[in-house]
Amino acid sequence: MGSVSSSTQWERLIEEGYQRLNTNPSTPEELQQLKQFFTSKPNGLFARIQQILREAPPEEKRVIGKALNALRTAYQERWQAWKTVITQHAEVQAFPDPTLPGVWTTLPGLTPCPSHPLTATLNQICTIFMRLGFWIAEGPEIETDWYNFTALNIPEDHPAREMQDTFYIRVDDPPVLLRTHTSPVQIRVMEKMRPPIRIIAPGRVYRNETVSARAHVQFHQVEGLYVDRHVTIADLKSTLNAFARQFFGPATRTRFRISYFPFTEPSFEMDVSCTLCDGKGCAVCKRTGWVEILGCGMVDPAVLENCQIDPEQYSGFAFGMGVERLTMLSYRIEDIRRLFQAEWHWRVQPPVHVPVSPAGFHQKMRPEEEKPTEADKKE
Ligand SMILES: [Zn+2]
Repeated sequence: MGSVSSSTQWERLIEEGYQRLNTNPSTPEELQQLKQFFTSKPNGLFARIQQILREAPPEEKRVIGKALNALRTAYQERWQAWKTVITQHAEVQAFPDPTLPGVWTTLPGLTPCPSHPLTATLNQICTIFMRLGFWIAEGPEIETDWYNFTALNIPEDHPAREMQDTFYIRVDDPPVLLRTHTSPVQIRVMEKMRPPIRIIAPGRVYRNETVSARAHVQFHQVEGLYVDRHVTIADLKSTLNAFARQFFGPATRTRFRISYFPFTEPSFEMDVSCTLCDGKGCAVCKRTGWVEILGCGMVDPAVLENCQIDPEQYSGFAFGMGVERLTMLSYRIEDIRRLFQAEWHWRVQPPVHVPVSPAGFHQKMRPEEEKPTEADKKE
C-alpha cells in the first residue's frame, strides 16, 4: 500500500519540478526563491525525491533515479539561462540614463574637444541613413575569403584577391584575411534575415597599399543594403539623392555614371556637384564641377542566391562610400595621412559642409511646390 502511494508521489514531484522550470524569474529575489525550491535541505524538491528514492523497493530505485537525474540536468541548464538573463537585466537597470546631457571631461584651462573629423563624419552619415529607416549592422574585421570575395560574386582570378592587395592571415584551407571592404556584413545579414532588409554597415577595412597622400592601408567604409519586393533603380537614386542633399546641403545636384562591380548589376558611380566652387570648377573637383563620392548598383541576383534569397521575388540595391573621402571633402583635407596623426587643431577647424538639420529629414526634403493639404493642417 505504502509503495503505491509513494510511487505516485515521486511522479507528482518530478512533474511539479518541470512545471517550475518553465517559469521565468524577473528579479534576483525570484531567482533565489527558485533555487531554494529545488535545492534547499531538507525540504527542497531534490531532497524530497531523494528521500523517496532511499525508501523505494529495489526494482523502483532505478526508475526514480533516472527521472531525478534528468530533472537535475534540466534544472542546471535552466539555471544558467536564468542567471544570464537576470544579470543582463541588472546591468541595464544599473546603466546611467542615456538621455541625460553629456559632461565634458577636459583638463582645466583647455576648451572641450569635438569629435575627430572621421568620427564626426561617420556619425553624420549613420544619422542620415538611420532617419531614412536603415539599421546599423556590424561584422568581424577578420574574414574568410567566402564572405569577403566568393559570396560577393568576385571570381577566383579577380586581381583584388592577389596578395599585393589583401592582407592574408592564412593563405589556405580556407583563406582568412583582413576584410577589404564592409560588404561581408551584407552577406552575413542576408544569411540570417529575410527581406525586407534595410541596413548600413560602417567599419574599418584594410588593403595592402603603399601609403601616400591619397591611399592608406586602413580606412573606413559605410556600405548600405536594401532588399525587398519591387526595389528599383528609382529607390536607389532617391535614397542616395536624399543622402547627398542632407550631407552636402539642399542645393546639391547628383549624377550617376555607369560603372562595374562584381556584386551589382547594373553598377554606378555617384558624383555630387562640387560644394566648394558650386560646380564652376576648382582644384578639389579638378575643374570638372563634380566630385565622385560613392559606388552603388542593383544587387546581382547571384549574390541573393548565395544567401538563399529568391531573386525572382526580391531585388535590392547596395552602395558603399569611403568615410575618409567624405571627411577630406568636408574638412578640405588634402592628405589622408593627416587623419591618422594626432593633430591639435582638429578641435578648432569646423567642417565646411552644411550641417545636418535637426528639423528632421522629411520636413526638409519635401519639394517646395508640394503645399500642405487640408488633412496635414488638421494634424
Ligand atoms: Zn570644385
